[in-house]
Amino acid sequence: MSEFEFVTSSGEKIPVVITVRTGARNITLRPRAGDVRRIDATRPFISANSTVMKFVEQKRRWLERFFANAPKKEHLKSGDMFDFLDMRVRVIYDENLRGNKFVLNDDGTWTLFVGGDAGMLENRVRMFIKTELLKQIKDLIRQTPRDFWPKKICLRDTTSRWGSRSTTGTMSFSWRLAFAPFDVMRYVVMHELAHVKHMDHSPEFWALVRGLYGFGVERARRWLNQNGAGLHKFL
Ligand SMILES: [Zn+2]
Repeated sequence: MSEFEFVTSSGEKIPVVITVRTGARNITLRPRAGDVRRIDATRPFISANSTVMKFVEQKRRWLERFFANAPKKEHLKSGDMFDFLDMRVRVIYDENLRGNKFVLNDDGTWTLFVGGDAGMLENRVRMFIKTELLKQIKDLIRQTPRDFWPKKICLRDTTSRWGSRSTTGTMSFSWRLAFAPFDVMRYVVMHELAHVKHMDHSPEFWALVRGLYGFGVERARRWLNQNGAGLHKFL
């Protein structure tokens, strides 16, 4: 616990570390988002800490945006759980296992047993997720008319876009959609497929998205707008 904190609108408490700089004229703020998230502040000798905190409050919008765009990475350890396309999955490291084992439990949750080198746990989980997600995306696309099918589908780790399509016919998706609800991932896929016919976001485009996706396009979009940044916090 730090003496001074910045509480984001989502309730995250970020410590504010205040240093006095003799000879400084202004208060400075430097938000940090690495393994440790904090705000480094410096103030002149004559200012008070309360003035610094008032200044932090004035800069709230900027700070909120900074931390939202740099979500904290959560390291995955054996025993941890994560959401994977509507499934609650617990990761268990099993040194005697060669590959992975994905098992449905009686309570409806899943267990992903991961073997191999313990230091490679996150890598293996990431590979498993990507392979599964790609399979599911391909299954979804196969259910649409053939003239929507891309030449190639690949997964990327982009922060700016959930899906995109190249002029050569390759469709790319962010692998982090795996942490979203299934229908949100499905929405992104249908959105990109609709771009095969309409390059813009015209009413005709949205009508096609609704035709491909069905009821609930707005809800999926809203979910992504509100929770999209959080999908980057894992691995
Ligand atoms: Zn679009």
